[in-house]
Amino acid sequence: MSEASNDPMVRPIPAPVVNLETQAFWDAAREGRFLIKRCVDCGKAHWYPRAICPYCASGETVWEESPGEGAIYTYSVMRRSQTGPYAIGYVTLDEGPAVLTNFLGVPPDALSIGLRVKVRFQDTDGGPPVPVFAPI
Ligand SMILES: [Zn+2]
Repeated sequence: MSEASNDPMVRPIPAPVVNLETQAFWDAAREGRFLIKRCVDCGKAHWYPRAICPYCASGETVWEESPGEGAIYTYSVMRRSQTGPYAIGYVTLDEGPAVLTNFLGVPPDALSIGLRVKVRFQDTDGGPPVPVFAPI
């Protein structure tokens, strides 16, 4: 473990793949801003960011900055790991979409379904920071 941090709950995360469809998201992430996509035609927000609305197939989708707050829908704790126990799961954003994410900066045993969490960004190895969630 190199420069990770002094936080024992932080584990290394590989750099995400950035493409044309998600470039704006990762650019905002570098500035600490969390973006989601919303459909102009049906009004629904979605995650992960896509050019085509997954609900109505409209191509009219726009970026929207989100506070990145929501509640844990479900989670799973990986206890047998070379980097120590960690947790992943789904967060239901206040805007509606569910985000598959890592929970960092918190002991897995402190998580619970329904717990209010907020996005923060963790550096990756050579790429933009990725959104992770921690209790508010
Ligand atoms: Zn739509």
